[in-house]
Amino acid sequence: MVEQQRRLRTEIPGPRSNELHARKQAAVAAGVGTTLPVYIERAGGGIAMDVDGNQLIDFGSGIAVTSVGNAAPRVVSSVQAQVSDFTHTCFTITPYEEYVAVAEKLNELTPGDHEKRSVLLNSGAEAVENAVKIARAATGRASIVAFDHAYHGRTNLTMALTAKSMPYKHRFGPFASEIYRVPMAYPFRWPTGPENCADEAFATFTSQVHAQIGESNTAAVIIEPIQGEGGFIVPAPGFLRMVAQWCAANDILLIADEIQSGFCRTGDWFACEFEGIVPDIVTTAKGIAGGLPLAAVTGRADVMDAVHAGGLGGTYGGNPVACAAALAAIETMAVEDLCGAAKHIESIMLPRLRTLAEKYGVIGDVRGRGAMLAIELVADVGSREPNPDLTSAISAACHREGLITLTAGTFNNVLRFLPPLVIGEALVQEGMDIMESAFAATA
Ligand SMILES: *Cc1c(COP(=O)(O)O)cnc(C)c1O
Repeated sequence: MVEQQRRLRTEIPGPRSNELHARKQAAVAAGVGTTLPVYIERAGGGIAMDVDGNQLIDFGSGIAVTSVGNAAPRVVSSVQAQVSDFTHTCFTITPYEEYVAVAEKLNELTPGDHEKRSVLLNSGAEAVENAVKIARAATGRASIVAFDHAYHGRTNLTMALTAKSMPYKHRFGPFASEIYRVPMAYPFRWPTGPENCADEAFATFTSQVHAQIGESNTAAVIIEPIQGEGGFIVPAPGFLRMVAQWCAANDILLIADEIQSGFCRTGDWFACEFEGIVPDIVTTAKGIAGGLPLAAVTGRADVMDAVHAGGLGGTYGGNPVACAAALAAIETMAVEDLCGAAKHIESIMLPRLRTLAEKYGVIGDVRGRGAMLAIELVADVGSREPNPDLTSAISAACHREGLITLTAGTFNNVLRFLPPLVIGEALVQEGMDIMESAFAATA
């Protein structure tokens, strides 16, 4: 594995990264952005090493993907073995055991002990698309309810579900129909204060569905149990439970999009578990396979099996190499107790973030769970005016010091932290030191 040590040999980005970036600009479509133009050569644990020999601390995990670490040993050997056995048959032509084994694991690990079925796909957006297809087929209803600040992907249907225009939807319409948006129980920005947030958001949600769609036309409600790209918004306590109960009472399916929050990220296998929610359908991707492209929809057997044979699938969905990676990643999470590791990361980072927030009034909110933590930056103490300029300045200062940080949020004013769950404690502390220095120098 790459030595678990931050090391800066050149400026960030260094000369070889700059050369590669010039090639990228000339060869890759301009719409494909770059957060930090540092080109990676090797990575593992909590470190990413670039082509100039710099070693950066990773607080991003490639957006919550490499939770088991990059090139995780079990994933590497499992993938190597699979790649030399066979690489593809198309599961819907001639099947193989690895796909079935991943489905069995998902059925076992997702919330609820009812009978379940799974379908495997290639990306998170594709999983969300299929969850909607399944919900419509199972209910015979068309309408889907999504929330403010939601992110569900970049395909046409998932752009319709995603809330934020720039950069995800801008100029890409028209979007799919029968998608309705309701307010999110966002405690920090709830107009009447966080203590009223859950009840009032729930009341608005039910009255809007009733008045604007009609319960009997509503197939499903889709929600991220902790919103990802929207800014790591943790719904006000109790909100998810009320939504789940109301869905059940109205025969509306609850789809939990656990693509970012799943697989030990929040300290549980799935973020729904914290509030004891049992969704009808769960979408997963990102952390599932240690970096190989894989996604899934898992749901109640009666719901999933409502779709006719041939209605679900795709050429690559559940590719055997990706499945081998997923089996190894899931084994790693269980054997190495990565849910416990996420809680341990929280116990180091959260107090330090809170201390930082006491010192700098521009940190308006500290939130998240496990190794899915964030701070929201505002103009001044007590203000809720977003501070996107400071957010990008702090992030850039961290990058220059060799700490990979990501931003998020509808208003581009959230710094989010998603370290690999296998990161060592010393690197977490050092990353936090860098962040503190960035605030000292910038805020
Ligand atoms: C990333 C993400 C998606 C989309 O996944 P892709 O693999 O990028 O298509 C959907 N939902 C959530 C919550 C996500 O974080």
